[in-house]
Amino acid sequence: MIEPPTHQVPAIHHRRVGDIGLTVVSDGFLEGSMAVLQNITPDAAADMLRAVFRPVPRRTSLNCFIIHGPGGRIALIDTGAGTHMQASSGQLPRNLAAAGIAPEAIDTVLMTHLHPDHSNGLATAAGTAAFPNAELAMHEAEHAYWTSVEAEAEVARTGQGVPTGGAYFPMAKRQIAPYADRLRLFEGGAEVFPGVTAMHFPGHTPGHCGFLIASGGQSLLIWGDIVHLPEVQVPKPEVTILFDVDPPQAAATRRRVFDMVATEKTHIAGMHLHFPATAHLGRDGGGYRLFPEAWEQTL
Ligand SMILES: [Zn+2]
Repeated sequence: MIEPPTHQVPAIHHRRVGDIGLTVVSDGFLEGSMAVLQNITPDAAADMLRAVFRPVPRRTSLNCFIIHGPGGRIALIDTGAGTHMQASSGQLPRNLAAAGIAPEAIDTVLMTHLHPDHSNGLATAAGTAAFPNAELAMHEAEHAYWTSVEAEAEVARTGQGVPTGGAYFPMAKRQIAPYADRLRLFEGGAEVFPGVTAMHFPGHTPGHCGFLIASGGQSLLIWGDIVHLPEVQVPKPEVTILFDVDPPQAAATRRRVFDMVATEKTHIAGMHLHFPATAHLGRDGGGYRLFPEAWEQTL
């Protein structure tokens, strides 16, 4: 007798962008309070979730991305929540293994930003590099922010940007420490891996970046944390979140990126879009609407 399944298939999804291979690798999801949303009441946000058949409180999907570049080079974008957030997260190692990618095979780790749901997977519990052969690359403003004594003191004063009373600062420093001798800082517009250009999208954090993959006349923008809760922030781009270091700038950046990808009909993917997280963004009345990509059997 065949029993009904009790676990989902591995959450990996392959796609191509020209000659570049892209694999979406889920790290799982986090569930969290509605009270962290700003410019909207928790009740109004909950109503928006229920109206599109989503769970309340919010479910925030976590995605990382593998880029298969030329000459067998492999980059990983973001590293997931690691083992100490929620049991539903921290699935990156298992799903990477299912994709046939050993941590040792990754030669570059690109970071959208250094929040713990993205960077906790950088270091092991013993404080060693989880990706022992990888160079770590991020925007220079991101590294500067999380290593700044002044920034840490400002957050302790205001509570905006780091809801856990400043704990994100020591966490970020701990996660990047094993890579101190192979750290590369870049600026917006730089080619950070063959075929991959960093795009500086500041506001959520000072050095928050997206990554534009372009090859063979095709392109796809991994937009990082342009949205955290797509069901709310896509129709209402003005909704910010307590984790934004600069909420007005985060909202302005979100509107700028939305306008750009809707106008240019760019293929997009995001860290907090629901797996497999590839979509288009279209205009809808005064706001926007996400259109998940159709399934492709062959690549
Ligand atoms: Zn995030």
